[in-house]
Amino acid sequence: MSSIFSKIISEELPCYKIAEDDSFLAFLDINPLVEGHVLVIPKQEIDYLFDIDDSLLKDMVIFSKKVAKRIQKAIPCKRIGLSVIGLEVPHAHIHLVPMQSMKDMNFSNAKLALSSSQLEVIQSKINSVSE
Ligand code: AMP
Repeated sequence: MSSIFSKIISEELPCYKIAEDDSFLAFLDINPLVEGHVLVIPKQEIDYLFDIDDSLLKDMVIFSKKVAKRIQKAIPCKRIGLSVIGLEVPHAHIHLVPMQSMKDMNFSNAKLALSSSQLEVIQSKINSVSE
């Protein structure tokens, strides 16, 4: 299903890119729960994460692991939490959220409204970390 994330993949819309390969893209959530909240998406248009075939899903988790390690080096946090929600955008995605406590994983919390310059600073912090 085509969604706003398809437009990000095709570069019709911009994103704060964190990582990309032939199959996946990782970018900052524009309304993050906390600073450093990243979304990982497959380039294939598929709505629900658990409909992704096993081989691609395995690769997506490995891709997410590499991104999570970079976030953890760039953003002060105890761990990187991983969530699957998908109630807003019908394109499969994994949320990677730097956590100080379990409360940071509460998707009912108010989202941060960050400026583009704040998002750029976070992007460059994460992108300054190589694998
Ligand atoms: P959900 O589908 O419920 O997992 O939520 C979708 C997430 O995508 C939300 O956290 C939004 O803030 C985020 N989001 C929506 N549009 C964009 C966008 N253009 N760039 C980055 N993140 C987005």
